[in-house]
Amino acid sequence: MSALTRSFRYIFIPVLLTFIGIAAAQHFKEVWHVWLPSIIELPYYLFPVAIILSLQFNHTRISILAALLLTYYAYEQGLILDGLAVNIRNQIFLSGSLIIGLFSISRDRALFSFHTIKTVGGIVLCVAIGATWQMLTLTIGSPTSLDVPPAINLLTPLYIPIGISSIIVCIYAVWRASLIDSVLVVTLFTWLFIYYVPNGLPLPLLLCLLATAYICVVIAESYHLAYRDDLTGLSSRRALNTMALSLNSHYSVAMVDIDHFKNFNDTYGHDVGDQVLQLIASKLTKVKGNGKVYRYGGEEFTIVFPNKDVEMILPYLDDLRCKIRDYDIVLRNELRKNSNKSDRKINEENRSTTVNVTISIGVAEHHGQLTFAQTLKLADKALYIAKKNGRNRVFV
Ligand code: GH3
Ligand code: MG
Ligand code: MG
Repeated sequence: MSALTRSFRYIFIPVLLTFIGIAAAQHFKEVWHVWLPSIIELPYYLFPVAIILSLQFNHTRISILAALLLTYYAYEQGLILDGLAVNIRNQIFLSGSLIIGLFSISRDRALFSFHTIKTVGGIVLCVAIGATWQMLTLTIGSPTSLDVPPAINLLTPLYIPIGISSIIVCIYAVWRASLIDSVLVVTLFTWLFIYYVPNGLPLPLLLCLLATAYICVVIAESYHLAYRDDLTGLSSRRALNTMALSLNSHYSVAMVDIDHFKNFNDTYGHDVGDQVLQLIASKLTKVKGNGKVYRYGGEEFTIVFPNKDVEMILPYLDDLRCKIRDYDIVLRNELRKNSNKSDRKINEENRSTTVNVTISIGVAEHHGQLTFAQTLKLADKALYIAKKNGRNRVFV
């Protein structure tokens, strides 16, 4: 699966979940209808929980969005700004769509920083653009207001900002491929559903679903932070230790270490080193034999093979070693950046350079009363011998 296809999951899955959520809510109308009086109060509890949780994990965009939606809900409930004109509601929807677009192109920063002032400025700008756009389209007398059913009014200029915003939100969700950006897609679709299908589902129910989505995403992201390695996307050492608790007594482990990686960094720079780490990590995940790969730390990786003997996994590991050894890593520009004037001419002629890296692997099988840590230590000892014997080899 290509990286782009994988990224598309971050749009398809949230959009699918939004539709499933809305369809399920409509299907089970009788069930939640009984609870509607309580559901009306629920957004006042769920959004603050979402705000506090997202602030805790520095997801400022989600916290601000939750605060804005809470304010909107209070307004809809008539708690604030009661009795404003219908036009204001249209402006809110235009501005809301723009704000979601703005959030999708910005990044999460600390709440108490200059960026928050910029974000607030951006929100004010979105509100101003929404109001101006609404006023302009009314003045030029186009078939204007968003009140007109969408089928008739779909191509009027009022839909331009909403359309642009939707495209931006979707592109960024694919590009950034993160849960937070996915939940922005969900927010946008729910926001459009609230407006275009006003009698579809009660607002408190939709906002409760949205607030629950925020809470789930923030919890899932914090889980990712703890159990995923940021650079390679592999499971982290903490995840390895947690997984070890669920292993039975029949398994093998391999410790993988990149050879002479310090030299590599010194020659090509740390950034290129990082890219190579990512590449090796992605190659390791293709190991056969149902091996699960973890970043142990630095340029070391651990592969766990549940229910496998050492003899069974050796061919897989050697295959992996050969594939990495034979893989030509193409370096572009990075070399040129570091080069001096005389080298530059040569490098400009050869805009890319290929390099190869090798790995050494130590393997051990669990036996007797050994703990997971002790089995890992055995694999580490085997790795040490593999290094001593000349590197680029698998040793048991
Ligand atoms: P050996 O063949 O004996 O393993 O030699 P080595 O140079 O790979 O081993 P050593 O332990 O001396 O150096 C490991 C190097 O890995 C040091 C550090 O520069 C590099 N390294 C560790 N983590 C990272 C990382 O996240 N990014 C980059 N670019 N380099 C890293
Ligand atoms: Mg090492
Ligand atoms: Mg090394």
